[in-house]
Amino acid sequence: MDKRTKKLKDLDRRYVWHPFTQMREWMKEDPLVIEKGQGNYLIDTEGNRYLDGVSSLWVTVHGHGKREIDRAVKKQLSKIAHSTLLGLGNVPSIELAERLVKIAPGGLKRVFYSDDGSTAVEIALKIAFQYWEQTNKKNRKRQFIAFTGAYHGDTFGSMSVGEIDIFVKKYRPLLFHAFRAPYPYCYRCPVHKKYPDCKIACLGEFEKVLAKNHKEIAACIIEPLVQGAAGMIVSPPGFLKGVRRITKKYNVLLIADEVATGFGRTGKIFASDLEGVRPDILCLAKGLTGGYLPLAATLTTEKIFNAFLGNYDEFKAFFHGHTYTGNPLGCAAAIANLEIFEKEKVIDGLKGKIEFFAKLLEGLKNMPHVGDVRHMGLMAGVELVKDKKTKKPYSHEKRTGHHVCLEARNKGLIIRPIGDTLVIMPPLSIRKTELKRIFKIVRDSITEVT
Ligand code: PLP
Repeated sequence: MDKRTKKLKDLDRRYVWHPFTQMREWMKEDPLVIEKGQGNYLIDTEGNRYLDGVSSLWVTVHGHGKREIDRAVKKQLSKIAHSTLLGLGNVPSIELAERLVKIAPGGLKRVFYSDDGSTAVEIALKIAFQYWEQTNKKNRKRQFIAFTGAYHGDTFGSMSVGEIDIFVKKYRPLLFHAFRAPYPYCYRCPVHKKYPDCKIACLGEFEKVLAKNHKEIAACIIEPLVQGAAGMIVSPPGFLKGVRRITKKYNVLLIADEVATGFGRTGKIFASDLEGVRPDILCLAKGLTGGYLPLAATLTTEKIFNAFLGNYDEFKAFFHGHTYTGNPLGCAAAIANLEIFEKEKVIDGLKGKIEFFAKLLEGLKNMPHVGDVRHMGLMAGVELVKDKKTKKPYSHEKRTGHHVCLEARNKGLIIRPIGDTLVIMPPLSIRKTELKRIFKIVRDSITEVT
């Protein structure tokens, strides 16, 4: 190891507090320090190259160092890096808003910017809440409904609608109540075990809660088609559409959290498009800038927007705003990202890649310690199990998923597990030869560790 790398690693262990990380373990490990990115590769401080198998945590879309995005950010930098949206407009935020409205599912006409997925969700919840406060004075709708296994971020509002114990349990005394309905095929779904047709049963349970409580429920929040952080749980076709139908029937707003599924991951620009669903509110982040800069957007319908209009002294404005809201560098990157989708016809080119990805995933299914293998588009979860027949999991302390990922790293691939589910989610720019290599490394690493 060269001197500089050693120093950086020591300083990292001494000063940096890493997210979702038991730092005692981290401080014993040998951290990898990334210095550059090139296409679908990450490069460390010693020049070693690694395939980016999780798109740098589900954000990178067209690869690292994509010329058009680099150029757009540099061009914007030569004009201005930041100017506020509080009391001023800025050029890229206006141009991006117009573009987003054009590609978003029909009916979404207004764009509220923030910085990351959690804030996009927080804003969606606040908008939904305030919308009803200002339009429905008698029957106040002050509750939310969300799904089992949901993950919507780490701020208090987004944690309240989230359900994954390990992320939210500690904070529960501070969280607000949310009604809960079963997400189909969710590994924790209580209905799934009882009924063969999980979709119908889950929609039935969902409708029951709405039928009883709709007068109190402002909005339903859902991760359309795939629950990412739950371990890439894929819902059956028609489920999202069913949720939309029922929310409409009971006058409950639908918030589509497409923070993970947006920007081509499922094979369409948005997962909602796969079922022709038009949510009332849409949350975007992660891939919005092609994975370059922290930027998020919450889109709403004109009807919702109009409920916030009034005289100044009615105080109907939306009282929310972050310092870097609508940051020009982020917006310039996002515009370039969307231009690439158009120019390179990225969505059209995905079909073949997704089929190849599915075939490679299929090849893992016969491995003795691989349980469920789930995927939608270029998002996949590969479950590792101690016993294939009974699907008995490994004990938590063994950290099997983590060890497989460390082994993959030794072989030149970066992936990250959720528990013992390996997440494979390469950039959309991944080539077939690179996909082949990813799966060879995954296979070899699973074999070695298990
Ligand atoms: N919503 C979903 C569906 C996500 O998958 C995530 C992050 O993984 C978030 C929200 C939170 O996004 P962020 O980490 O950018 O706050």
